[in-house]
Amino acid sequence: MRGDRQLDVVVIGGGQAGLAVGYHLAKQERRFVILDGHARIGDSWRTRWEGLRLFTSGRLNSLPGAPFPGDPHGFPTKDEVADYLEAYASKFGLPVQTGVCVTDVWPADGGRGFRIVTDDGDYEAGQVVVATGAYDRPRVPEFAAELDPGITQLHSSQFQSTSQLRDGAVLVVGASNSGAEIALMAAREHRTVLSGRDVGKMPFRPEDRLARAFDTVFWFFVNHIATMDTPIGRKAQPSIRDHGLPLDRVRPSDLRAAGVERVQARTVGARDGLPLLDDGRVIESTNVVWATGFRPDHRWIHLPVTGPDGWPRQIRGVVTDVPGLFFIGLPFMYAGASALLGGVGRDAAYLVDRMALQAAELRSASGQEAAIAS
Ligand code: FAD
Repeated sequence: MRGDRQLDVVVIGGGQAGLAVGYHLAKQERRFVILDGHARIGDSWRTRWEGLRLFTSGRLNSLPGAPFPGDPHGFPTKDEVADYLEAYASKFGLPVQTGVCVTDVWPADGGRGFRIVTDDGDYEAGQVVVATGAYDRPRVPEFAAELDPGITQLHSSQFQSTSQLRDGAVLVVGASNSGAEIALMAAREHRTVLSGRDVGKMPFRPEDRLARAFDTVFWFFVNHIATMDTPIGRKAQPSIRDHGLPLDRVRPSDLRAAGVERVQARTVGARDGLPLLDDGRVIESTNVVWATGFRPDHRWIHLPVTGPDGWPRQIRGVVTDVPGLFFIGLPFMYAGASALLGGVGRDAAYLVDRMALQAAELRSASGQEAAIAS
């Protein structure tokens, strides 16, 4: 194998999480590459729906070493985030290979380290960081297959604009932030029904005057109080990880004003090809948007990483059963802010220190083995 394919570390995924890890790896002068399947750094943001703005203000969106540009109290667009990530990689000269998709990770032949299989050949590394984002596999219920083939179905991750919708009514399933934003857009042109449990709402909209003060409290909470080191954090983790945060920008009153028909009933099946609610009603819709979240899927990592809840078994990103394997950017990996732009840097700093420690321990153990053998 070529020398540039045998590295200390391969980072899989060059979104904000992979780049933050790259920043710290570069500081420690480790030999590494960041592999990303997208054509361009920042594409995971560019491909989200038109008009998407962050709910976190500029001052809360910085990665290590480079403040987020622009108004610290403004709310950047998705494309501004994408451009920031691209500029970040270039500012620190991070070795990102775009357009390279990792298909499998295996233990290396000799038993130490890993073989990383890509659609552009293999790599070998002593350590692997999985930074592929929290959104592996769209969660779409099985009964979606029973809906009339004439109904346009999209998962929220595929939704970009209302031009993808057919004439007629839209049912949006899942009423947290993505579902509420999509329902509001759809309601401008279509009769729109939003189905799903009430996820609550933040006390203020991000743009409200009072929200500036609340921002600081919110940030302190998701960074320092809601962590895996506190009882409140450990209790909140499964709910924040699996269901996200309460409604922020789009409020129930906005939905009402836009004419969105909000039903608390859940969508539970299909009847005569149409979506069926758990109160027995059938929704006559020609479009269904599944804002039903995602599930983790790490079957491409051929090592024992997945715990009984489907998430990787890890502590602050260090995989407990597989030395050398690490995760970054998982929702609520260590704190409520772990998967947010402004929260991932702290996790990355911790992780890269642990990685250096593990690598040093391994070197020292190999040295001792060699000494005993001679
Ligand atoms: P991603 O951005 O998903 O990047 C993962 C990268 O890994 C991708 O570039 C992908 O191409 C690559 N990849 C995946 N699999 C492979 C593979 N097998 N081989 C090679 N490459 C691979 N956060 C905030 O801080 N503020 C906000 O306001 C905010 N708003 C959000 C709004 C929406 C609608 C969503 C979905 C998320 C939002 N987030 C927000 C959360 C979070 O910041 C983003 O989800 C962010 O994109 C996560 O970054 P990441 O690097 O962990 O993952």
